[in-house]
Amino acid sequence: MQDQPQLVTGKKDQLRFVLPDRILVMSGATNYEVIIAGGGPAGASAATHLAMRGVRVLLVEQKKFPRPKLCGEFISPECALHFARLQVADQMLAARPATLTETIFYSRNGSSVSVPSSWFGHAGLALGLSRAEMDERLLRRAAAAGAEVIENTSVSGLLMTDGCVHGVNLKQGSAERSYRAPITIDATGRGRALIKYLRPRKNDPRRTPMVAFKAHLKDTGVATAVCEIYFYRGGYGGLSSIEDGLSNLCFIASARDVRACGADPDRVMREVVCQNKRASLTLAAARAHSPWLAVSLEGFGRHEVAPTKGLLAVGDAASFIDPFTGSGMLMALESGELAATSVADYLNANRPSPSLEDLRFRYATAYHQMFNSRLRVCSVIRRAAFVPGLAEAAIHVFAASKRLRRRLARATRGRAPEGCAAARAPVAPGPG
Ligand SMILES: Cc1cc2nc3c(=O)[nH]c(=O)nc-3n(C[C@H](O)[C@H](O)[C@H](O)COP(=O)(O)OP(=O)(O)OC[C@H]3O[C@@H](n4cnc5c(N)ncnc54)[C@H](O)[C@@H]3O)c2cc1C
Repeated sequence: MQDQPQLVTGKKDQLRFVLPDRILVMSGATNYEVIIAGGGPAGASAATHLAMRGVRVLLVEQKKFPRPKLCGEFISPECALHFARLQVADQMLAARPATLTETIFYSRNGSSVSVPSSWFGHAGLALGLSRAEMDERLLRRAAAAGAEVIENTSVSGLLMTDGCVHGVNLKQGSAERSYRAPITIDATGRGRALIKYLRPRKNDPRRTPMVAFKAHLKDTGVATAVCEIYFYRGGYGGLSSIEDGLSNLCFIASARDVRACGADPDRVMREVVCQNKRASLTLAAARAHSPWLAVSLEGFGRHEVAPTKGLLAVGDAASFIDPFTGSGMLMALESGELAATSVADYLNANRPSPSLEDLRFRYATAYHQMFNSRLRVCSVIRRAAFVPGLAEAAIHVFAASKRLRRRLARATRGRAPEGCAAARAPVAPGPG
């Protein structure tokens, strides 16, 4: 009996549990309204917004922060608005990020086109800051806002009844425990760890056509206020300044080219990235200042955002937008807030019997309103960027028209999510 959680309130679909004392090894708190797996920007954003609304949240992260993370580390200007809403803006600036006023895209032959950061609104400045610093600050903010944060702990399974998720198994070292909540959020990034428990899929090496690498470099030739993007056969890469006078290089190459370079990141940089004329100049004297990180990429685009009752997805677990847009972290912050707003509305609803099916429908509708259009635009640009010669031609066309350039750049973003109005989507018809 002691191992069974006890039901203490029983509003339909809104069950609250008290867990028995002897499983409270990892945490003093006993009953949660929301459990979030993954402490990256999406999970930390969702946790902070929920905690600021008084919701009892558990945020579980498998790593110990700060930790390095493979990313271009270009923080789009609109993120400033989210940092302000999350009350973490001062902490971000205290990390002394580089400020980036424009992004210049270089074709293989050296043609270029510039996109000023001011086109993306707010203060018009993008930031260059390592993920170790940024993610650490966001995670600590979630804890300060009142979320219970557990690091070094993985979500290792879902608790389910009749197709409805009502909690998770957590693994810390060799200890495994169950935690329950009416709502669970998958914020585990591209791995979609929780959703994979619902729909297990075998790893197929043929589904990994690309590999991404990243390192912090010294002695690059990139200007401090500029992010440079280089296109080359089978991929592209970005170089920009971050804190402490370092540069971050992050690039994607075809698995075939990576194999041909013996999977040596330094060789891939010299032999593949430096096929781009501009990259061969800016990287000529560059040296790695941190170990290289590498991950395989299965693809881009949208996944299920509300796969079953009691489970929502945010950030890359919901959709992986093409990295050349420099807006994945923005989408992580936006979708974290959107999920938090939808969940808080559900928990506080005055309507009789709000249902988890209702929440699922409202979140999915709001999500698609907010993100579908930009995901579609990016998928078209990506296809064009990988057609030989087309990237070159497109750069010429866009270099000739500032208006066209601005429209395309804006189309990779959404409308400002003021007050997250999109979260207030119509209510699902029928019973939950
Ligand atoms: C090559 C490349 C370059 C990019 N460049 C940029 C860029 O310049 N600008 C930009 O805005 N975006 C960029 N992105 C995208 C950006 O990195 C992501 O969109 C962003 O990290 C998504 O945040 P997230 O919180 O959804 O996931 P993540 O940041 O991946 O965080 C997920 C967290 O979940 C944790 N986790 C995983 N599994 C479990 C588990 N089972 N239990 C508990 N925790 C778990 C992980 O440890 C991790 O901390 C780039 C992506 C790539 C691949």
